[in-house]
Amino acid sequence: MEQLPKPHAILWFPDGSVILKTDSYLFRVHKSILSRESSVFKDMFAFPVNEDDRANEYDGLPVVPLLGDDEKDVIQLLRMLYKPTFGALKLSLLRMPCVVGLFKLSNKYHFSGVDAAFQKELKVVFPQSRAAFGKPQGASVRRSLFTHDNLLPLLPVVQATGKTKLFPSLLYCCSQYSINAILAEDLPPETKELLLAGREKVKLSIHDAFAHQVDYHHLGMGVCKRNPRCRTSACFAEFDTKCQTQIESKPGHGEEFFTMKEFDEVQTSTPPCDDCKEGVKKILSAVRDQVWDLLPEIFELNM
Ligand SMILES: [Zn+2]
Repeated sequence: MEQLPKPHAILWFPDGSVILKTDSYLFRVHKSILSRESSVFKDMFAFPVNEDDRANEYDGLPVVPLLGDDEKDVIQLLRMLYKPTFGALKLSLLRMPCVVGLFKLSNKYHFSGVDAAFQKELKVVFPQSRAAFGKPQGASVRRSLFTHDNLLPLLPVVQATGKTKLFPSLLYCCSQYSINAILAEDLPPETKELLLAGREKVKLSIHDAFAHQVDYHHLGMGVCKRNPRCRTSACFAEFDTKCQTQIESKPGHGEEFFTMKEFDEVQTSTPPCDDCKEGVKKILSAVRDQVWDLLPEIFELNM
């Protein structure tokens, strides 16, 4: 026999005015709170209850079945709504294991406060400037998304909000997964195509930029005037090789190229002499800026 949903232990307020129903739970909550936070619920409650719906009542209260919504996401969302300080909490939404489900729900029912908190956080974690991308706070949240396997699933949810344009670095991070991981993910075919094509274009742009430096330095200053063992072209060639040979079975956090310390500090097996090092550093930084600026075009966000 099918198990009937039962009242939830915490989200059951005796003075609640509406019952939300999932597969195994009933939540007795308040129309006023749902209406305040969500325009979808506000509109829903604005209509008078018709006679057919009366058959669905529980304890004399209207029952709203939440069709197709994941139960644990619903619980998380409701608990947040009943903690009015959630927006001010230092707690990061993007660090939550259930972030994708939560974002989906807030988008579906237009929970404006939760939505605003999401947008604010996304802007910090997937910023538009490379300098901001290198900040440790965002990097640690990206790593957490990656660890919980939430990075790729987050993309279609952001796409559904129509605001992908603001987050080229999210697309970049997603494109740095292995080809197999992208293919295996439950994503719309056009998103997979975009990521796989973008992945190749990123690699190619890096290669073009480095190959140019290798040529230039090989021709112009193959032998450093100050130190015969200093070979800047070999240094650029090594960085290029590093970027082109990603290990397929072990995807990174998708940020190595733009934030890696080895680049910042010019750590190579053929280091340039101290006199040339600062120049190389500047060029490495310029190459990374150049590729960063190409991201919107690579991921077709300019249309
Ligand atoms: Zn030198």
